[in-house]
Amino acid sequence: MSLSYPCSWQKQLAGCIKDPFELFKLLEIDPNSLSQKSMPSFPLRVPMGFVNRMKKGDRQDPLLRQVLPLDDECVSIPGFSQDPLQEKKFNVLPGLIHKYKNRILLTLTGACAVHCRYCFRRHFPYEGNNAHQHFQTEIIAYLNQHPEIHEIIFSGGDPLIAPDKVLSSWIFELEKIPHIENIRIHSRLPIVLPDRITDALIDVFLCSRLPIVLVIHCNHPQEIDETVGNVLLKLRRAGILVLNQAVLLKKVNDKVETLVELNKKLFQFHVLPYYLHLLDKVQGAHHFEVSEIQAKWLWQGLLAALPGYLVPRLIREEPGAQSKTWLISDV
Ligand SMILES: *Cc1c(COP(=O)(O)O)cnc(C)c1O
Ligand code: SF4
Repeated sequence: MSLSYPCSWQKQLAGCIKDPFELFKLLEIDPNSLSQKSMPSFPLRVPMGFVNRMKKGDRQDPLLRQVLPLDDECVSIPGFSQDPLQEKKFNVLPGLIHKYKNRILLTLTGACAVHCRYCFRRHFPYEGNNAHQHFQTEIIAYLNQHPEIHEIIFSGGDPLIAPDKVLSSWIFELEKIPHIENIRIHSRLPIVLPDRITDALIDVFLCSRLPIVLVIHCNHPQEIDETVGNVLLKLRRAGILVLNQAVLLKKVNDKVETLVELNKKLFQFHVLPYYLHLLDKVQGAHHFEVSEIQAKWLWQGLLAALPGYLVPRLIREEPGAQSKTWLISDV
């Protein structure tokens, strides 16, 4: 059953579920099976629209598993660290990560509508490290001094949490820099809070001389309901390129059929796959890990079942590398 939301995306954001007991009540699951340990720095957070897509009474629901804090997170496992990608080294200015030569990340906000339990940014020191507008002058100066940078990636947190006027002010400043060729936005909001994609936001995107590429983050076909589908089609009809990245997660999407269905369903709404990420080894996320061998096996299954353009690139992130590492399937 899908509920309709007369209220604004800002109100929906403010109304996110933060209490695990309330979540279990909504899902009609016995709250006695809840984890008692808590993770104060990265608590439960999930928008109601996403909760409505979970199956009632199903403790193993793949959407629930992505957001529910578990005791497993508190176990320390060798090889899993707080900053697995060593991003702090590349954090050249507050809010700016320059790791790959010709494209940079701007972290516009540390906030997200949803807290994905496997997120590699769960320990990232966002406090005081956002591209707040008072750093805009320094950031623009840095970009002017680096003609090798051609693409700006709005990241976070979730950059679409930022208000339209903040986004348009960044786009306005960035398009004055002659060597910037396009803007990319990495956001999970089209999936978890689809009402964020307002006509006004699409206008902000369309006003720019710079092409906008939107990379959404959807891991399971059940994440796409009618509202999400309509928003994706609206973006595509406005001429915005929409790509999807997914993270390969144990007991969420580690089956060939699930991944085939995900990519087919996205394509119904004209979205093409971009990346299928291996999990970043972040402390507290080991229970989501799928081995590299298993990942390559799954990817072979996708190759056999889908046209080439619906097969995502299987990748892993390595701390010192100059790009993502593509896992060429040699199994
Ligand atoms: C992933 C990432 C990018 C973008 O890489 P693409 O392969 O172009 O998607 C840029 N900068 C950083 C720091 C990244 O982690
Ligand atoms: S939306 Fe993205 S950045 Fe935010 S918690 Fe989820 S994976 Fe992490």
